[in-house]
Amino acid sequence: MIYLDHNATTPIRDEVIEVVQKAQRDFWGNPSSIHSIGASALAELEKARDKFAQYINALPSEVYFTSCGTETNNLAIRGLLSNIKFQDIIISEIEHPSILTLSEKLEEEGYGVQKLKSDSNGIIDITTLESFISEKTALISLMFANNETGVVQNVEQTGIISLKNNIPFHCDAVQALGKVNVDVKKINAATVSFSSHKIYGPKGVGALYLKNGTIINPQFIGGGQEKKVRPGTQNVPGILGFVKATELAIEEMEKEQMRLFELSEYFYGRVVNEIKDIKRNGDAGQRLSQTINICFPGTTAEIIIPILDGEGIAASGGSACSSGSTSPSHVILALGRRKMESLSAIRFSFGRETKRDDLDKTISVLKEAVERIRRLNS
Ligand code: PLP
Repeated sequence: MIYLDHNATTPIRDEVIEVVQKAQRDFWGNPSSIHSIGASALAELEKARDKFAQYINALPSEVYFTSCGTETNNLAIRGLLSNIKFQDIIISEIEHPSILTLSEKLEEEGYGVQKLKSDSNGIIDITTLESFISEKTALISLMFANNETGVVQNVEQTGIISLKNNIPFHCDAVQALGKVNVDVKKINAATVSFSSHKIYGPKGVGALYLKNGTIINPQFIGGGQEKKVRPGTQNVPGILGFVKATELAIEEMEKEQMRLFELSEYFYGRVVNEIKDIKRNGDAGQRLSQTINICFPGTTAEIIIPILDGEGIAASGGSACSSGSTSPSHVILALGRRKMESLSAIRFSFGRETKRDDLDKTISVLKEAVERIRRLNS
């Protein structure tokens, strides 16, 4: 199988499997137990916390392990809001559903939600941010990198504006970790979310950065695990695997991102030369190296994806969380694409195993499929 859907999830890497398996055998104790079996699990957990903190330039006391990116986004935003008397939030219109749908729920509950707009390249226009801020603004949330277009947002600048106005800044860095440098201090964030399965780690593990001094209320009721912010017995093997995956991703980042940038430009260059009337979605430069999103007008992703799949190629239309729905992606619409065009958007997200040969095969299947569908539709 040629797997070009790494923004949806990644295969767990062998070095990580080894760490998880060892932990499942040796560190299965409950880290909250005070006997030696619990204590050894706790020691490993805290070593992992120390390491993860270093990778994101935080203090260990600022790292909280969770179950995924979605939980972390909910915990950060609801947690911050439950501790602030103001009722308005500012987000971007291209956030992941774990923030966008949450914002709709918050609106139903009486919060005010303002959305920063994307330009036609998928870059959120933060020049309007200050005009959105009022004395009622409780928090600002902007993703680090978009999951559909891969566009990297101006989070550093957003952090500066948030700091200047004394408003907590939440950043969803789920797609950014291990692909670009994520330094929580540099972006002046109050909270940042991470997820393991996007970087060849196990599923069901995430992390929250919570700046020391920022108070959030837990959103689950239970024990005092994860420093009273997130109860529930920690998934020690999963966390150790996540931290190993982060270590490897960061170690290999520079070289791998360069390789992926070249590969993705090669891919796009051939697609634009060989398939007529296509449209690139997202900025060509300010992006994650491994993400290319393209509209193939006159077709739909709903038809192309199964054709690719039948030929052993996995890609996706829109984000995985909304696949199965035929409504156009909110991210692609935000670039100014029309509804029918948006329905033809396909995301190709490359990874560690992607080689040039895979892309050559993908291009020939894609070209044939697009031309055939267009002929049938004309
Ligand atoms: N935020 C972004 C930008 C994502 O791409 C995703 C997953 O696709 C999430 C949050 C949710 O992460 P998880 O799948 O770990 O819940």
